[in-house]
This record gives sequence, structure tokens and C-alpha cells, in this order.
Amino acid sequence: MNSFYDIIGHEDVISHMKNAYTLEKVSHAYILEGEEGMGKKMLVNSYGKLLQCEKPDGSKPCNICSSCIQMDTQNHPDVIYLYPTKKTGYGIDDVREQMVSDINIKPYRSKYKIYIIDQADTMTIQAQNSILKTIEEPPEYGIFFMLAVNSKKFLPTILSRAVKMTLKPINSSDIESFLISEYGVNMDKAKVLSSFSRGNIGKAIKLQESEIFNNQRNDMVELLDIFINREEYDIMEAVKLLERQKETISELIEILISLIRDVLYYKETQSSSELIHQDIELRIIELSNKVKPERLVKLVKNSYEFMNQQRLHVNFSLSVLTMLTNC
Ligand SMILES: [Zn+2]
Repeated sequence: MNSFYDIIGHEDVISHMKNAYTLEKVSHAYILEGEEGMGKKMLVNSYGKLLQCEKPDGSKPCNICSSCIQMDTQNHPDVIYLYPTKKTGYGIDDVREQMVSDINIKPYRSKYKIYIIDQADTMTIQAQNSILKTIEEPPEYGIFFMLAVNSKKFLPTILSRAVKMTLKPINSSDIESFLISEYGVNMDKAKVLSSFSRGNIGKAIKLQESEIFNNQRNDMVELLDIFINREEYDIMEAVKLLERQKETISELIEILISLIRDVLYYKETQSSSELIHQDIELRIIELSNKVKPERLVKLVKNSYEFMNQQRLHVNFSLSVLTMLTNC
């Protein structure tokens, strides 16, 4: 069920939306900015549900009218979801057809016609230019929600015509309680997942739902161990270990960096209270006793460089080798 009352965090965005609704100052264009998994879609679905509800109670949707039910099943005739069809994002034809011409058709039966544009920051410059007039002077019933990871990709002319709201990370204690109550995970695991997800609840849920995170983390602890106690032969093992999981390399590097962060943190403070990976505290302590901080700092630097090289498609094994040995 989509409702503001089921959303954890994002109080400022919710209060802005509720106020706009109550004061009848709903804008025609919104940009919601935040990482994947932060809850952008849940927020706009809840707002859309309230806006379209046939019998709202103050700023609460009734949850039982046919509009509310259609919103819950993402089946509302007057709420249109747009997704990029190409890897490169939305081209000019996509938005012309699905928004610019479509907006002229009146809503089927609701007060508003709502467009929820996923990954709107992937619109090409031409596509953005082609929607300018539409979002500036839409018919009375038109509302556009542009969901984006990075609002800097919008033209200034789009930004100036839309109300921009940036989602803030959720408190780690709120994510912990949520994971404990909704998924029955234990406190230790909840802490690891909440700190690793850095306030992104979608990411925390995804991590808890799969065993992948644990496996990936075990591998990265092993890699760090090899790095710290390095033997020439083992380094090649480490290269192979990453090579086998090339597809998820950015996740692995992210985990590796968070482990290094913990080892450095422990070295500096001799305290484990603020560790991200508190549940493997002993392993972190053990590693921290064997390594000079300078080497780890260099490894973090090398890891970032490695990721940049991957974007440029530099030879994988060679870059891993440079990353691990040049420290
Ligand atoms: Zn309703």
C-alpha cells in the first residue's frame, strides 16, 4: 500500500507535499533527487494517491476508493509511468510521444493527469528542450514528477521550472529498527546493513534479502588478508578472485573500501564501537595489527583509480594487479 504513513524518514519532503496539497498549491513539475533505493518512487506514488483520491480525509487518502486501489496496483489510467527504453536514456521521440502529445488528452476521470518519469536525468539535451514548454505551461490538470539520481544533468531551464526536492539519508537507527521489526534480522546484522547502506533503505533491504552481501564481504576480507600478508603467488589468487566477479566489481570495491575504513578506524582509535562491520570485529582487529596505515590509504586511492580505469575499459587483470601491488 502506498501511503506517506508507511514511509520511514523523508519528513521534510512529505510535509512539503502535504502542505502543497492542503493549501492547493500543487506544482506542475517536480524533481525528486536521490540515489537508487532511497524511496523516490514510493514518495511520488503516495503523493499521487493523495492527489487522485476521490474521498480524502484531510491529507490522507481514503485507501478504498477505486482510484486509491488503482494507485496501489500501479494501474491508474491517469497516472502514467515512463521508463527509458534505451540504455542511453530518453531520446526526443520518447518524450514527444509519451508526454508532449499525450498531455493534450484530458484525464480519463481524475482531477489530475500525472506523469512519473523514472531516471529523468537520462533525458538527452534535445529531449529536455522538447519538454520545456510542456512543463512550463501544461494544462491545468498536468503534473510531472521527474525522478533523478543527479539533478545536475538537467538544463538550468528545466531546473528553474520545477520544484526540486533532494532526499536525505535516513537515520541509521531508523533503518536498524525497520530491519529488525520487518525482516527479523538480529541487532548485529541490522547495524552492519544500516551503516553499509548509508541511509539508503532500499539498499539495506536488498542487502538483507540476499546472501550475496555476506559472500562478497567474505571474499573482500580474504582479499585484504592477502594484500596485508602479501605473497607473490597469493596476489595472483586475489586477481582471479576479482576477475570471477567482474560483473559486480563496483559493489565489491565499495565493500573493500568500507573494510579498509574499519581497519584504519580501529588502528587509529583502538575502539570498535563505530565500526561498520562490527559483527566481524575480531577479524578487523587482527588485520589492523599487521599493516601500516599508509599502505591502506594508498590502497583506497588505488581502488578509486581502478574504478576510473574500468569506466575507460582498461584491461581488467592488469589494473587489479596495479591496484594491489603498487602500495
Ligand atoms: Zn481514495
